Amino acid sequence: MNAPYARLETLEPGIARVLAHNPSAFTYYGTQTYLAGEREVAVIDPGPNLSEHVEALLGAVGGRKVVAIMCTHTHRDHSPAARPLANVTGAPIIGCAPLALDAVGPRADESFDGDYRPDRVLKDGDRIDVDGRELIAVATPGHTSNHLCFALGHALFTGDHVMGWSTTVVFPPDGDMGAYMESLEKLRQRDDRVYYPAHGPPVTNPQQYMRHLMGHRLQREKQILRLVGEEPRDITDIVAKAYPGLDPRLVTAAGGSVLAHLLDLERRGLVVRSEQQWSIAA
Ligand SMILES: [Zn+2]
Repeated sequence: MNAPYARLETLEPGIARVLAHNPSAFTYYGTQTYLAGEREVAVIDPGPNLSEHVEALLGAVGGRKVVAIMCTHTHRDHSPAARPLANVTGAPIIGCAPLALDAVGPRADESFDGDYRPDRVLKDGDRIDVDGRELIAVATPGHTSNHLCFALGHALFTGDHVMGWSTTVVFPPDGDMGAYMESLEKLRQRDDRVYYPAHGPPVTNPQQYMRHLMGHRLQREKQILRLVGEEPRDITDIVAKAYPGLDPRLVTAAGGSVLAHLLDLERRGLVVRSEQQWSIAA
């Protein structure tokens, strides 16, 4: 694939990125690690622990002070390079909380980085100083329960909450559609001028894009309500009807999204289930 792997690309003064070589049906060309700052930098979403990527990041840093290594969430394509980078640069790992693996058990499936150990966890609104500017945490649970975006001036680093190439996977039990919709609404009410997602190109029309994403989810919700209103259905049946011609690699993810919608609708009293069959609430 002709993508700019392991190359430093400057996007605007004080914001640059390096693409990791981990393309997949879920990551597009791969994970984009951002460098924020000029004389000193924060590294946002260090990415997978691939030696080529870690070396490219160290080259991009080029001896500047790294004030923080920041993760939006702890999926394995986002956080594992934090530790090797911290070991070389001495920078603290600051950002999202780890998932409490023992407490949540099945929340932490194989897509999670169980080795993530932050030095400092940021809450919504917490800020750190990077090169004389403030980087502010914006809590955005939904894709995962621990997801944060990071705001820097007019730009928002959106991790996997909002991606530039595809809709976000919301996979229960850790993924939560109700929380995800609230977190979309939270961004819609902000006035960011550009989003820098971990996957896909920058989003330069955030307001319009948020309306589009929210509309898409509401359409999907309506469609699921209509399908289970026709007759009781299981998730496989709903996926087959709602996602015709779906890439087979994405069937499991689509099933997760449908389940996330159904759990949200169940919580709102709109659907009920009996065994594997979902139907409309009487
Ligand atoms: Zn993710």
